[in-house]
Amino acid sequence: MALIVHKYGGTSMGSTERIKNVAKRVAKWARAGHQMVVVPSAMSGETNRLLGLAKELASSKTDMSHDRELDMLASTGEQASSALLAIALQAEGVPSVSYAGWQVSVRTDSAFTKARIESIDDARVRADLAAGKVVVITGFQGVDDAGNITTLGRGGSDTSAVAIAAAMKAAECLIYTDVDGVYTTDPRVEPDARRLQTVSFEEMLEMASLGSKVLQIRSVEFAGKYKVPLRVLSSFTPWDIDINEEAKSGTLITFEEDENMEQAVVSGIAFNRDEAKISVLGVPDKPGIAYHILGAVADANIEVDVIIQNLSKDGKTDFSFTVNRNDYAKATDLLKAKVLPTLGAAEIVGDTKICKVSIVGIGMRSHVGVASKMFRVLSEEGINIQMISTSEIKTSVVIDEKYMELAVRALHKAFDLDQPTA
Ligand code: ADP
Ligand code: ASP
Ligand code: MG
Repeated sequence: MALIVHKYGGTSMGSTERIKNVAKRVAKWARAGHQMVVVPSAMSGETNRLLGLAKELASSKTDMSHDRELDMLASTGEQASSALLAIALQAEGVPSVSYAGWQVSVRTDSAFTKARIESIDDARVRADLAAGKVVVITGFQGVDDAGNITTLGRGGSDTSAVAIAAAMKAAECLIYTDVDGVYTTDPRVEPDARRLQTVSFEEMLEMASLGSKVLQIRSVEFAGKYKVPLRVLSSFTPWDIDINEEAKSGTLITFEEDENMEQAVVSGIAFNRDEAKISVLGVPDKPGIAYHILGAVADANIEVDVIIQNLSKDGKTDFSFTVNRNDYAKATDLLKAKVLPTLGAAEIVGDTKICKVSIVGIGMRSHVGVASKMFRVLSEEGINIQMISTSEIKTSVVIDEKYMELAVRALHKAFDLDQPTA
């Protein structure tokens, strides 16, 4: 008997029929003798629907003053799905109780809409498990020290599940979703993408941070920090498949490198359409400029990703960086109002129609020429590279958004990701 955490995503919870299926699957695990904690997302589309309503009423796009209420609102999606799942479990004859984050409690900081989990008090949950109940805990939400409801950022139910698994020292955290594992790239973009049986924690961390939405980045960080055994698998297999077969399906995130992994130089391709590029043109090339520009952006709590500064000509240079598209208007407004007048720069221009495509692989550490192969493949497709960023196990390029799918497919093929590994 083990303590197991299951997480079900929005599509898996998308209708009462699907919730019934989730209940049957969880019941199977509980009847096999496991202590079960289940973390559901809101039913698919619900978070978008709620946030869409708020947008109709909000004062302005760049106004943060509604953030507390946005969390109050968005968190209801998970509260509803959790209660529905507990009802479905009870109807299956499985004793069950559902809790909102604040009832557990899942403590977070006060960064509304992107809060971080700080601690989890599992006393209540343990008591219920000991009494033979399945405990359903809302994904995506928590409570701050002042008692405000917070949410963990889009896709945050993954993080709730892994954090709960870490706090309770669960034997495994199973992330059930609408694909049957982690693929070499998003199978919606490249139908020839292959499922990975295992993926190293470091590669998963890069893939998630570079845009692979199959796991929220913070859930992978938690898994790494607390060494939570983590598996991504399908909620669409028949609920009554053999439990041992199910337990081995999908993709396991591993913490040790094995020889197999070293063989693949590139193991995955990630992409991100959520960024926008901002360029400050004609900046005087003198010390303190990067700080002057990016310091103002950081002070507004806006994250910056890829950064480049061009060679200077006649004492002037161009400085470009990318931010999340949601922060684009705020960042350009801020630069125009506060930075441009004091900097002596000529102009600020922006491009929201960009995307970032990245190749990821532990094998890149020990192989040369991987990045140059990426650049060659893109040039053969006539794709212009606007920015480049590299680290030990990844290379990213910023390109025109309209070439994203072409770039992903060409790279997938060029790095033999469609071919079965030995
Ligand atoms: P859930 O609602 O279950 O949390 P998400 O939509 O957040 O599901 O994540 C699953 C989706 O992630 C898949 O449907 C797939 O389109 C996308 N995805 C992106 N990159 C990958 C990848 N490398 N492997 C598998 N799925 C991926
Ligand atoms: N419901 C939230 C979202 O749509 C959290 C999640 O699904 O993980 O982002
Ligand atoms: Mg998700």
